[in-house]
Amino acid sequence: MIEQLRRFLGSRLGRAVAICFTLLALGWAAATTVSYFHSDTPSSAFSRMFICTETQKPFSHKLEVGETVPVYSPYSGKNTGVPAEACYWTADGGAKSEPTWVLLNELAGKEGPTFCPDCGRLVVGHNPAPRPGAKPPPTPSEYFAALGSNPPR
Ligand SMILES: [Zn+2]
Repeated sequence: MIEQLRRFLGSRLGRAVAICFTLLALGWAAATTVSYFHSDTPSSAFSRMFICTETQKPFSHKLEVGETVPVYSPYSGKNTGVPAEACYWTADGGAKSEPTWVLLNELAGKEGPTFCPDCGRLVVGHNPAPRPGAKPPPTPSEYFAALGSNPPR
């Protein structure tokens, strides 16, 4: 059986079949990679979610070449739109399909860590999405306990 396979792969047809399989595998890998990189862009490649620092309301905005942040916010009527972070966590440490869009304190010009207004968990830049086995981000009490300090009043 193995000997037959080896003879087959040694033949011209066998080599052609092997090359076909290699190309198929490469094509599949490329398709997977492309879909992976496009997975978190909802509408188009250049549109992303922003959040208004004055009204805390999220909105989708297409960033033009040369445009600077903060961008125009339809809610405040001023350039108060900064990139929003997506939080897919729930208060009990589970996952939800529709994210809460969160304004990071550092982008709002405020001190200290940012906690999600919905689930109350820590939100950071490039916030991690829930994955099987992933530990949910800390709540304020867990976060400050780990630092050995009390939450600010
Ligand atoms: Zn949240």
